Amino acid sequence: LGFLLAACTDDEAVVKKAVKEPVAAEADEPLKIGFAMDTLKEERWVKDRNLFRQAVESHGVRVEITAANGDDARQIAQAEEMIQKGIDLLVIVPHNAEATAAIVHKAHKAGIKVIAYDRLVKNAEIDLYVSFDNEKVGEIQAEAMLAKVPKGNYVFIGGAPTDNNAHLLKKGVFKVLQPAIDRGDIRIVYDQWTEDWAPENAFANMSEALETNGNRIDAVIAANDATAGGAVEALKVQGLDGEIPVAGQDAELAAVQRIVSGTQTMTVYKPIQTLSERVAALAVHLAKGNEFSAIDSINNGKSEVPSVLLEPVAVDEGNIRETVIADGFHTEADVYGGD
Ligand code: BGC
Repeated sequence: LGFLLAACTDDEAVVKKAVKEPVAAEADEPLKIGFAMDTLKEERWVKDRNLFRQAVESHGVRVEITAANGDDARQIAQAEEMIQKGIDLLVIVPHNAEATAAIVHKAHKAGIKVIAYDRLVKNAEIDLYVSFDNEKVGEIQAEAMLAKVPKGNYVFIGGAPTDNNAHLLKKGVFKVLQPAIDRGDIRIVYDQWTEDWAPENAFANMSEALETNGNRIDAVIAANDATAGGAVEALKVQGLDGEIPVAGQDAELAAVQRIVSGTQTMTVYKPIQTLSERVAALAVHLAKGNEFSAIDSINNGKSEVPSVLLEPVAVDEGNIRETVIADGFHTEADVYGGD
């Protein structure tokens, strides 16, 4: 054994140990979950980070959290480091649905299960995927917009093409819009992805949409509140903010405030607390060596991934108090002002 250990680096030795020894053999050591996040840029991810940490620790399990700031190489390196340090399970929010498959292979080689959190990893044998029904998010947006604008010119400001959620959302949006498109009631006059979900890219896209259509736009569906914010800024330049209905998702505080002030029509609320608690409980369950059989599954190009999909909720000016405020997602004072 001495010879074997001498032949590999310290890191390799740790990985080998993780492969050979079942979790139960280390029962005296508290379990540790790794959480490899993409970004903390949007408000929601800060909530995800804090609530996930709390939820894992409430099970008496330790958690290590990294964020890669939208950098694929960095996210892979951070996850590899956690695997080498000997985590018992990896939870990942992939920046790039395809690139992160490499991490899944590495984790599995080390005997570590991987859960995809909110965003699916493609083309890898992920053990579990827990998210909201992202296709439904798009359906909810399109239904709300069609109810408000049954005829006219629609702009679709998509999410990041590297994020599977952006594709699912688009599928949901177009599923609902298609009959109205076929009837000739609505026309899609602009349809573009938004690199890295960045508001400045959404601003540029929306500006282009306005310019190429001579401002003749009747509704905007933006893939999230960050891109909706960029779109509203572009409308503002033309004096059209508040004149043209805009949909987003995440129920970010800024978006809910825009709904109150009339520059955004609706958003889609996804209770992050439920997501983080569900993933934490399942991560601890799997890390302890237990099995879990999910009812749903999603094909990720490689396998049918067992999936848990939570329900998103439409929010507009009529139900802010019953949804995000009732849940403590935002306070009444933050949304409406005052103390
Ligand atoms: C999430 C959205 C988020 C977006 C940008 C998506 O995968 O589902 O909630 O706004 O990423 O971070």
